[in-house]
Amino acid sequence: MLEIKNLHARVAETGTEILRGIDLKVEAGEVAAIMGPNGSGKSTLSYILAGREDYEVTQGDILFNGESILEMDPAERAASGVFLAFQYPLEIPGVATMTFLKTAVNAQRKARGESELTTPDFLRRVKTSAADLKIDMDMLKRPLNVGFSGGEKKRAEILQMALLQPSLCVMDETDSGLDIDALKIVSDGVNALRGPDRAFLVITHYQRLLDHIVPDTVHVLYKGRIIRSGDKSLALTLENEGYAQIIGEAA
Ligand code: ADP
Ligand code: MG
Ligand code: MG
Repeated sequence: MLEIKNLHARVAETGTEILRGIDLKVEAGEVAAIMGPNGSGKSTLSYILAGREDYEVTQGDILFNGESILEMDPAERAASGVFLAFQYPLEIPGVATMTFLKTAVNAQRKARGESELTTPDFLRRVKTSAADLKIDMDMLKRPLNVGFSGGEKKRAEILQMALLQPSLCVMDETDSGLDIDALKIVSDGVNALRGPDRAFLVITHYQRLLDHIVPDTVHVLYKGRIIRSGDKSLALTLENEGYAQIIGEAA
């Protein structure tokens, strides 16, 4: 589903190289974890997958279902099934969360040539997904993310994901800011979306998320390169030994 080939990317404004040759394949149905110390380029990788303009790809390619997405803007990527759950979800004053969700769902449907959901249809879907994520419907009347707690913001991200039903879900440190109960709710929400036609890139600094969302593969990103890949046991090794050991071996 996703093939990243020798991806090099830099910050457009300053030319600082952040990604220095990433190779990664993620199959449909696979949950791949990306781990790595702070500053490795994990968020940058997620932004580049989503098509954020502040970065320039200088070499390599990103294939999604066999086709390069580098020339596609973020809206086109989203419509084709790429979703990014942000590490730091933005607050959008003046836009009710419910309005935002409905606009996003219908924009995606329109881009795919499907008819818009009627309000009752839409509400039914929101109610079901919100209940699964223990999100109060009153919260959805408030402006998007404004005054939401850390955990509420992350649950709102997963609610978007559940409604949009993307085929590639990129989740950037969804566990940060979550207490144990919220971690369980969010992980259950993600696990419910796992399936043979969907792939996940779960970015996390810590192993604890991977106790709940058990990955098929684990990749360690450091200074813009993947320095180690393995199965879920690699995350446990990292938990026990820290990153220093693997970084030392890679050097
Ligand atoms: P991670 O998510 O792994 O903590 P990031 O992708 O946020 O890492 O950042 C990787 C490196 O790139 C860091 O050193 C960060 O300071 C730098 N970086 C990311 N975006 C920019 C930017 N827009 N301008 C300058 N430096 C950036
Ligand atoms: Mg970071
Ligand atoms: Mg980050």
